[in-house]
Amino acid sequence: MADNRLNTLKIGLADRYTIGMDGKRWQGLWRFVVGAAATLVPVLWLGLVLANIFTDEIDDAALRNGELQSVSIVESAIEPFLEPKPLRAGLTPSERASFSLTTGSLLRQGRVLQLWLFDLDGRVVFDAAAPGAPPGPPVGERDALVAISQGVASSLTEVAAAGSAAGDDGEGMVALRAFVAVHPVGRPDQVVGVAEIHLPYDAIAAQRQQSLERLKFAMVVGLAALWLMLAVIVASMTRRVRRQSRRTEFMALHDSLTGLPNRALHADRVSAALASAGRLGTDVALVVVDLDRFKEVNDTLGHRNGDEFLRIVAERLTAAVRPGDTVARLGGDEFGIVLPGATADSVEGILRRLQDALGQEAELAGVAVSAEASMGYAMWPMDAQTSEVLLHRADLALDAAKVARAAIVRYHQGIDEFDPQRLGLIAELRRAISAEELVLHYQPKVDARTGQVLAFEALVRWMHPVRGMVPPNDFIPIAESTGLIGPLTQWVVDSALAQLAEWSVTHPGLSVAVNISARNLRDDLPGWILNRLVAHRVKASQLVLEITETSFATDPVRATALLEELSAAGVRVSLDDFGQGYTSLGSLGHLPVSELKIDRGFVVAMQHSSEDRAIVASVIELGHQLGLTVVAEGVETEAVFADLRRLGCDLVQGYLFSPAVPAGEALALMGRLHAETRA
Ligand code: C2E
Ligand code: CA
Ligand code: CA
Repeated sequence: MADNRLNTLKIGLADRYTIGMDGKRWQGLWRFVVGAAATLVPVLWLGLVLANIFTDEIDDAALRNGELQSVSIVESAIEPFLEPKPLRAGLTPSERASFSLTTGSLLRQGRVLQLWLFDLDGRVVFDAAAPGAPPGPPVGERDALVAISQGVASSLTEVAAAGSAAGDDGEGMVALRAFVAVHPVGRPDQVVGVAEIHLPYDAIAAQRQQSLERLKFAMVVGLAALWLMLAVIVASMTRRVRRQSRRTEFMALHDSLTGLPNRALHADRVSAALASAGRLGTDVALVVVDLDRFKEVNDTLGHRNGDEFLRIVAERLTAAVRPGDTVARLGGDEFGIVLPGATADSVEGILRRLQDALGQEAELAGVAVSAEASMGYAMWPMDAQTSEVLLHRADLALDAAKVARAAIVRYHQGIDEFDPQRLGLIAELRRAISAEELVLHYQPKVDARTGQVLAFEALVRWMHPVRGMVPPNDFIPIAESTGLIGPLTQWVVDSALAQLAEWSVTHPGLSVAVNISARNLRDDLPGWILNRLVAHRVKASQLVLEITETSFATDPVRATALLEELSAAGVRVSLDDFGQGYTSLGSLGHLPVSELKIDRGFVVAMQHSSEDRAIVASVIELGHQLGLTVVAEGVETEAVFADLRRLGCDLVQGYLFSPAVPAGEALALMGRLHAETRA
């Protein structure tokens, strides 16, 4: 189930956010480009830092390489020929001869550009370019020489060998200058002087260059790979984040159960619809839909099926409107519909179409159910100028629809009277049931031929401490729409049976009729009623349940099953307000009813309308053919009564005999009516 819900949501998301395959590809590419641009800067920065570090490394390595070469030159060309005495004393002729030989060959081969030998005072004792020259004066840098001789080993610097003695190598050439401590062979601790060697830098530079090239290549490839990777990661992360935020946004504005826009988005759509209708000069209809039996579905079939039921309703509503219209779930079993461009003339037709769509049977947990709904609507700009007022007035129209038990009601002035919120009745009614503020009045059902009172119909009244007597039409619909109808009906049945038990002592043949709402048709109804009959010691045949034809129509299968159980136990069922609904005459024979109660509208009208009279006549005829008792309610005049007798009507009920009276007056009334017939 949760999966289902998720799937619906996913489908919803896909619906709203697909941009087509091509669009998707371009969007992916664009995201990648943005990701690439964003990661380019850090990658370049990293490249620069690394290039710096590695170039320094390579330069160091190049210099160290030169240093090693210089050391090995000193070790092979100088030290083996040194005699064990300080250089300060000058070179021996044999030393000078050996040095000129070895260094001369190095110079000629171009492996060394220049070579000087210093004593520790900084004087040049040997110059490879002028091997025969006598020691010169100190050439400065003595401190450096001393430092090197004291074990700093060597220092390396890069110098321009401009005007060096290796003249043929040209001017401005770069040489590598190395200072190497000189010690006699086998006496590494005894430094006798320092050699300064200029090496040709070309070979080293070439090597350095090669290393740099290799580094550059490795870095470019490595960083490019890194960049690509980062760009891909960033792009996919952006996609994920964007998808997530879109989903969050969707969830915030949609109902998770049905995937429909929620109340917030609905209000937005209303405002948008008004704005665009204002520009186009069209009207907007705002409809609020409330399911009539949702609580019952939830209670009897369970929440899972209740959820499924809501999804079915959502689908049907959505399928029945045009693409530009909005269906939203406002909460619970309430839906809002925005119909931009609908006119006052067209909207009722649209709503009837919606009612038909909802009325289609659907199977839920193996039970055929259909949805019935009350609808209230208001038109912009005729009924309200702003979206807030429009929303409120559509709500009022819905309340009025419920109170008036009408399927569709448009907002009109004065409708606020029906506003149950304004009346504050709901909370009070809850209290009234337990505080015994309800009373039953009884209206006699009279035998049309004998004038005998055969039964009393119990009709509830609310003795409100402030408002006085509130008629049932003002609070039964509220009770029905809030679930209070359950306890209310239990109270009515219980009180009526208690009353009947009392009357039965002296009038054992008397029956009592109670009205049962569609919402009372729950699985526990038969058991409960049979239980109360036993408790009050009343015969089942003394109880009549009046059930309106329309509540049968809502869920005939269920109603039939429940009532069959009751009539099997002997309880009689009367089809109230017959003629109002659309019970097919063919199906009438299959219903577990024993009485037809012709709607008082026809009865009142039959005096003046031959059509209505014909309807009454044929209902009586049909009822008798089906073996049913036929009752006419709303009998107000002698003429109608006489006519009904002529047509063979069995029972009559109406102001002509008596309105409903308090229980305490009922038996006296009965006696009076009997006396009248005898007279
Ligand atoms: P209903 O079941 O059709 O009850 C008959 C209504 O017609 C009663 O109104 C009654 O007072 C009125 N009436 C009786 N004789 C005449 C007449 O000659 N002419 C006219 N015009 N009207 C007549 P009431 O008591 O206001 O009840 C209205 C409706 O409220 C009832 O219609 C019934 O549907 C509902 N109701 C009343 N009591 C209960 C109850 O205990 N439970 C349920 N569920 N509904 C109830
Ligand atoms: Ca009734
Ligand atoms: Ca009736």
